[in-house]
Amino acid sequence: MLLPLEEAQARLLAHARPTAEERVALADAAGRVLADPRIVAAVDVPPFANSSMDGFALRAADAPGVLRVAGEIAAGAGSLQPVEGGSAVRIMTGAPLPPGADSVVPIEDVAESDGVVSVPSPVTPGAFVRSAAHDTRAGDVVLLAGPLSPAKLAVLASLGIGEVAVRRRPVVAILSTGDELVAPGDQLRPGQIHDAIGPSLAAAVIEAGGEPLALERVGDDPEGIERTLGAAAASADLVVTSGGVSVGRHDHVRTVLERRGALDFWRIAVQPGKPLAVGELDGTTIIGLPGNPVSALVTFELFARPFIRAMLGLSGDGRLRVRATATERMPKDRDRRAFLRVVLSGTDDGYVARPAGGQQSSQLRPMADANALHVIPEDLDAAEPGVGYEAIVLEPPA
Ligand code: AMP
Ligand code: MG
Repeated sequence: MLLPLEEAQARLLAHARPTAEERVALADAAGRVLADPRIVAAVDVPPFANSSMDGFALRAADAPGVLRVAGEIAAGAGSLQPVEGGSAVRIMTGAPLPPGADSVVPIEDVAESDGVVSVPSPVTPGAFVRSAAHDTRAGDVVLLAGPLSPAKLAVLASLGIGEVAVRRRPVVAILSTGDELVAPGDQLRPGQIHDAIGPSLAAAVIEAGGEPLALERVGDDPEGIERTLGAAAASADLVVTSGGVSVGRHDHVRTVLERRGALDFWRIAVQPGKPLAVGELDGTTIIGLPGNPVSALVTFELFARPFIRAMLGLSGDGRLRVRATATERMPKDRDRRAFLRVVLSGTDDGYVARPAGGQQSSQLRPMADANALHVIPEDLDAAEPGVGYEAIVLEPPA
């Protein structure tokens, strides 16, 4: 009996706990996740009324007219001489509006000579003045817990906040298992292949907001796997392994979990990625991904990514989902939800998805060429051309 995807995900996510908060300077908060439930503005932004143009500050009632230029106010000026009737003060963008003035005329709209400025047209009170607090008023809720985008960091900075509480990046240990594996860059001997998954999962961990901890590969050796998993469980918030979770005689990750820790389940109704071991060792969650590289990446997306996000206090997988029309018939296994590797593109009639290549779980290239996963429901034998299915967007479509 295969476990339905949502049930498997829910059982896994029940183990996720948010990481502790840590305080970081704003300059170090890029890409981090705000831990404070909300940020309330303590001050007005801007704190004072100021000019939105280079020009002249005056009383609207004096325009049109010829006014005496009584001085100049630059951005940052602290002491301001009041503007009296019949006069104007040269003012720069961002400079405080002086007392007495109620508006600004842009320099382009006036003629200036010999200490006087001629304002040819009427001026509306408040023209080109940015009022105090027009962006944020003290007491406004400006941010909720969540990812700190550049613009959100700008809001915090504008409020004078120099430090924020963010979630500690979850440390995710990555372990490739398999006697046949050799580090990329090293020479292959007969029967060996390069470890395609380790470096890739490290990137996926970073993309999900975690901090990868690459472990030395281990062979299909139960003692080595047990030792490495034990050490990893002690130093990481999550351990993600690849390989060794199927029913082969040398698939030891699952059996080590069964013996040393707790195994939650290991067969799920997805394609690719049926064998998946989820369990716990010394209180740390272990996700045992299958060894086929595409299965590993897809199940990372479905399980490890939401788990890492949950540790950051974020829900879901954070991916955009769109409806996309299949261009071709693509067979799949009945009773498993398929995640086909497709190239999504926008047309006048919405998105279309064409297969990025072969759909075997050992075919990495189509996974690399794909920008989306086309989600084909369990009860179908194939994706049918002309029919729309949900697509999980991995990269922005062309
Ligand atoms: P396993 O789940 O260990 O039975 O592995 C399934 C298939 O994936 C086998 O063909 C393995 O050689 C292959 N495989 C396992 N781990 C990796 C890896 N890190 N990189 C590339 N292929 C792998
Ligand atoms: Mg293996």
